[in-house]
Amino acid sequence: MKVILIKYGELNTKGDNRNFFINTLYDNIRNKLKDYNVDIVKDRAKMTIKFNDNDLDKIENIISKIFGIHSYTVAEVCSDNLDDIKNTILKVANKLDYKTFKIESKRSNKNFKIHSMELNKILGGTILKNNSNVSVDVHNPELLLRVEVRIDRVYVYYKVCAGSGGYPVGTQPKALLMLSGGIDSPVAGYMAMKRGVKIDAVYFEARPHTSLEAREKVISLCRKLSVYTTSINLHIVNFTPIQEEIYKNCRSDYCITIMRRMMYRIMEKLCKKYNGVAIVNGESIGQVASQTLTSMNVINSVTNMPVIRPLACFDKLEIMEIAREIETYEISILPYEDCCTVFVPRHPAINPKINIALNEESLFDYESLINKAIDEVNTIKIDSEDDREFDNLL
Ligand code: ATP
Ligand code: MG
Repeated sequence: MKVILIKYGELNTKGDNRNFFINTLYDNIRNKLKDYNVDIVKDRAKMTIKFNDNDLDKIENIISKIFGIHSYTVAEVCSDNLDDIKNTILKVANKLDYKTFKIESKRSNKNFKIHSMELNKILGGTILKNNSNVSVDVHNPELLLRVEVRIDRVYVYYKVCAGSGGYPVGTQPKALLMLSGGIDSPVAGYMAMKRGVKIDAVYFEARPHTSLEAREKVISLCRKLSVYTTSINLHIVNFTPIQEEIYKNCRSDYCITIMRRMMYRIMEKLCKKYNGVAIVNGESIGQVASQTLTSMNVINSVTNMPVIRPLACFDKLEIMEIAREIETYEISILPYEDCCTVFVPRHPAINPKINIALNEESLFDYESLINKAIDEVNTIKIDSEDDREFDNLL
């Protein structure tokens, strides 16, 4: 019998916390494989998945994107009867093409009487007797066959794939991701999820200055991100009245600073509304005028919530590399305008002053506009398998 054998990620935790991690990972895997006929079994050291052979490629692809998995492999399973192990190792080895090999046994079941070194020799002998064209090479073997003797079963496998690492999504509470159509914010969301954070996304929209295509782009990005979690709620904020008031009332070099202070204020209120405990965004130090440390300070001062900036110290090229890996890059570079780009002033303040920002924004009644924007938020639930766009409004 074959199973997918899963080893956990960075679960350097003990006791109840470890169980919580494992149970969350189990739920996430079960949820992602809900359309497949599988049998998933978890214990403290590993998980195994029984599957239908035809589904293997698809299941492996899904597993490779679930956070909290250190590695996975397809293993043959047998009992701890020595003849059974010998037959199984021949079954695995005979399907492969190799000249040199090595057996590496691990014995976590100490009731199993044969020590690892001895088992290596016995099983090596079994292979040599069966195939006179191969030899043992302990230093640089073409084929490394692994045998794990565990309490319940013995697992035989050779090809170990790296999982996505990180922590299972849901082992941290929810954060709200500021998701624009750009390159950075989807990458920031991906990195936060990798730390186990569950995310909702927030998109500030400025129609008619921005188009429906720009919204669809954000939905597509959200769908790409939802591969790594169960589903993502995308909250769309109508930012137009606020932006128009800013540009009517405030001096132009402070428009971006004030616009971003308004975004942060809204984010804080949305966190309260949707149970988020932090804000995540794609800001990177020095990238644009609003992301100098001075600007970040003036903008950030409207909220006491933690603002997580996974990309703060990344180069744009490093960010683009991850964007390509997670397949958001091609969507992000589509040429639809964002609310920030539509209203960009010629000379935004690079070193804004807090008292000037306070003074400028006191020139219009932003509180009521913010409350109205929050009351009128439009939420869409985005699922990775769901190709419908607007007909699944909550
Ligand atoms: P780019 O990849 O072109 O830099 P960006 O999305 O990073 O695009 P920035 O102007 O650098 O755009 O904005 C910094 C961060 O602010 C973004 O990463 C995103 O988290 C947030 N943000 C900007 N505009 C919006 C928006 N319209 N809706 C939601 N979040 C936004
Ligand atoms: Mg950016």
